[in-house]
Amino acid sequence: MSHTVDLEADIGEVLLSEAEIAAKTAELGRRISEDYAGRNLTLVSVLKGSLPFMADLMRQISLPLRIDLMEVSSYGGTATESSGLVRIIKDLSASIADEDVLLVEDIIDTGLTLNYLVRYLRGKNPASLRICTLLDKPARRLVDIPVDYVGFEIPDQFVVGYGLDYSERYRNLRFVGVLRPEVYSAHE
Ligand code: 5GP
Repeated sequence: MSHTVDLEADIGEVLLSEAEIAAKTAELGRRISEDYAGRNLTLVSVLKGSLPFMADLMRQISLPLRIDLMEVSSYGGTATESSGLVRIIKDLSASIADEDVLLVEDIIDTGLTLNYLVRYLRGKNPASLRICTLLDKPARRLVDIPVDYVGFEIPDQFVVGYGLDYSERYRNLRFVGVLRPEVYSAHE
């Protein structure tokens, strides 16, 4: 596979700037800090896409909290479509029983991955389970799951950056953007 020399040159449109993401993360952190005061908060995030959001959000929450990380991969899909078949690559490292769990997601698209995770985490008997996502693409939802904290609703476009990848690239962009169509056609 060829290596992109200039990552930013592959972006057709910046959807969310670094400053917009930072402001929204601070706002979500304030809300979560109010809502979870006096609770046993554990943030659970899902590698790899949620990594920057998790790192930024946790530092905007002014409460004692624990974090845990899972990694899942969906199989049977393509580089831009999830199939809903989920495999756990890395499980939680501690019990979440009786914890107030907030699942921190990068993006909810069809909702199939989230649906799987919510069922899995509920089976571990947390005191409560809520969902926080930076990005939401409601137009593509196949499973209706109530999402408690949403950063931005975005249109039905495949986005990269701020953790989100295309073929494992672009995660390190500081903004969220849409790839130029030529980038896909070169690989598919
Ligand atoms: P869902 O199961 O909700 O359809 O998809 C969830 C997962 O698909 C996300 O965690 C993410 O890995 C991937 N995904 C969905 N939409 C996008 C997108 O626009 N860009 C990127 N890079 N990944 C996406």
